[in-house]
Amino acid sequence: MTDSPALDPVLGDLAPEDVRVRFPPSPTGFIHVGNIRSALFNFAFARHYGGKLVLRIEDTDTARNTAEGYHSILDSLRWMGLNWDEGPEVGGEYGPYRQSERMDIYADVAARLRSAGSAYDCFCANDEVEARRKAAGSKVQGYDGFCRELSADQRAAFEADGRTPVLRLRMPDEAITFTDLVRGEITFQPENVPDFALLRATGDPLYTLVNPVDDAMMGITHVLRGEDLLSSTPRQIALYDALAKIGVGQGAPRFGHLPIVMGEGNKRLSKRDAGSGLGDYIEGGYLPEGVLNYLALLGWGIAEDRDVFSLEEMVEAFDIRRVNPNPARFDLKKMSAINAAHMRKLSLEDMTHRVLPFLKREGVVSDPVSDPDAQMLELAMPLVAERINRLDEAPGMLAFLFVEEADFALDEQDAAKLLDEAGKEIVQASYDALESLGEWSTAAIQESLQAKLIEELELKPRKAFGPVRVAVTGKRVSPPLFESMELLGRERSLGRLRAAL
Ligand code: GLU
Repeated sequence: MTDSPALDPVLGDLAPEDVRVRFPPSPTGFIHVGNIRSALFNFAFARHYGGKLVLRIEDTDTARNTAEGYHSILDSLRWMGLNWDEGPEVGGEYGPYRQSERMDIYADVAARLRSAGSAYDCFCANDEVEARRKAAGSKVQGYDGFCRELSADQRAAFEADGRTPVLRLRMPDEAITFTDLVRGEITFQPENVPDFALLRATGDPLYTLVNPVDDAMMGITHVLRGEDLLSSTPRQIALYDALAKIGVGQGAPRFGHLPIVMGEGNKRLSKRDAGSGLGDYIEGGYLPEGVLNYLALLGWGIAEDRDVFSLEEMVEAFDIRRVNPNPARFDLKKMSAINAAHMRKLSLEDMTHRVLPFLKREGVVSDPVSDPDAQMLELAMPLVAERINRLDEAPGMLAFLFVEEADFALDEQDAAKLLDEAGKEIVQASYDALESLGEWSTAAIQESLQAKLIEELELKPRKAFGPVRVAVTGKRVSPPLFESMELLGRERSLGRLRAAL
């Protein structure tokens, strides 16, 4: 025997650049984080090999699809920076990429499957199948193959009865085995995978038909998707084979089923769970870098001792065989920590740029930004850059610098706690100390308040500055006090101290 080089377990004899994967969401509402995780893993896989990522919109279920759902998918992918090589708004040689525009293709393929004998018309009603199963004492679920070999007379009788058939795939009688790139070898016994419907009685194609037809026609080489779809894989494998026989595609792609994402309790994170939509994180001031990094950790890791990495680093290191098959838990605390780590990496300029829409949204700065607001922001950002873990924390931290004096208000709870009699005495003492201050600078403010409150009145720093902070910024938690007062200026700072009294 001659030694032939061992085939790559992921690529087989495929050249890396010939890898083609797809992300095929259904536009049925906002996009779920588990779904975006699939997009991310497909993106990382495609980019790792230098192959192609296809975006396909699975919108054949007209009752459930919405235009917002469609736009939310495209916007979400763009926000994450997960760009696709072929698909809506990009084009490509295998289009159209919206299934609603491919109905003729499905009708044609279905007709050819029927003529080839791989699929057959089935006139049975569900209750008839159920009754036959009961009578036979069979525990097997699903369709029993009754219409596989209908005689012309039987068919004519059904038609005379006014029945219209569904189209079913004739499943092989042998077990179906495949090697999952994440889970290893998986076998399905034929009794567990009955003949299934490809077309409804109305002639409308079902997901079970259109998804593999498009994978086959679009030359998809690897299908990486959620574990929840694993039970449909044997049916799809049989269909890819039937399609290859009629000259559509090359047979089944390789599969890798990504771990389920669990939410609170031991349940799968569902669309109904709070925090399951990507939009919550976009609106909530998370960085795409943070979200991507966290989603990558739902089943994959770059190294034992390392949680924080960039998309480029993921692409470089990604190996589908190192995806963990066990359920992944969605943990908001962890996601916040990862996001905070990416916030720390931003340059001041970049963070300012990203914070701006949030400041506008909360009405903290004018839109478009006025010159004075822009100048104040440039001075103020260094004070908060190290202190915020999400972009949407900036408005609350910075508003006191931008607000008109007439609209400035103290946080009621903080004021009640810190501006009691003792607090007001501190504010009065501070006012007295600062009123005659020569130069209004951070250092001078600090020196004067320290001399007055710490040295003369012998207060502990924590006690001393809390009331001043609430009076000037409105809150117990704020950017650094002396710097804030310098930015605010003498008149506004003293005015607020006086107002607190
Ligand atoms: N449209 C299907 C879904 O969103 C696609 C499943 C698949 O990846 O095959 O669940």
